[in-house]
Amino acid sequence: MLTRFAPSPTGELHLGHAYSAVLAHDAAHRAGGAFLLRIDDIDGARSREEHVAAAIADLDWLGLERDGAPVRQSQHLGDYAAALDHLRARDLVYPCFCTRADIVQSLAAPHGPAGPVYPGTCRHLGADERALRIAGEPHCWRLDMARAAALAGPLAWEEAGQGLRAADPAAHGDVVLARKDAPASYHLASTIDDAAMKVTEVIRGADLIASTDVHRLLQALLGLPTPAYRHHALVCGADGKRLAKRDAAATLATLREAGVDGHALAADLHAGRLPAGYSLRNP
Ligand code: GLU
Repeated sequence: MLTRFAPSPTGELHLGHAYSAVLAHDAAHRAGGAFLLRIDDIDGARSREEHVAAAIADLDWLGLERDGAPVRQSQHLGDYAAALDHLRARDLVYPCFCTRADIVQSLAAPHGPAGPVYPGTCRHLGADERALRIAGEPHCWRLDMARAAALAGPLAWEEAGQGLRAADPAAHGDVVLARKDAPASYHLASTIDDAAMKVTEVIRGADLIASTDVHRLLQALLGLPTPAYRHHALVCGADGKRLAKRDAAATLATLREAGVDGHALAADLHAGRLPAGYSLRNP
């Protein structure tokens, strides 16, 4: 059993992150396995070293020991580029020059499980126009979902407590695999690294269950193994809304500095007991 906790260092960690990290750590340790820390820092503009240091201090305070050094996505950019090349060679991705405003305007927006579905504007550009515009215009790379889903056929994954769960990547439309401002999207980087790290069970919040539709498809296209998944309930504040990085009161740094006992908190979280005012909800 190999699990991971994979924060993006774009803000401080909060109780929801602690809950996720405790579940992943404890699952590995109960099984005599390993628990790894991955820093999801592909977003160079928003990632901060101070958040990496704070995340490590938070995990230490909770008593969650890691196996090995932290893995950094910013050091794997070559792997993501190689995967994209592989998909490009099979005509499964295309460059997209649309701005956010273009997309919003052109949408008689069908919505997918994770938001608006890209209307496919750039999918039909000819090879010459593509080559010309790639040279001069910012662009991202999108998966040609219809082709990719047809190629892969029906897919499923093992979801804890549910058994086999069918993946529905087609509902997401032509997702972005490499961003204008970053060489990989969350979907591509996370899928490749979970495989490279040999993660056997991905434990993360239920807000990411829809992403697994896409991750499962990428595994099929790239010949990667499929781990088991456990998408857990989300920690919500007194207003019933899931915690976000902006909720200063629930950050682990705040609790740590207020003298809260991190090991005791980790034991409570493991048992599903949350500090007063917080609750667990399935979205
Ligand atoms: N880095 C992602 C986040 O902080 C989580 C990735 C994952 O667990 O798959 O939301």
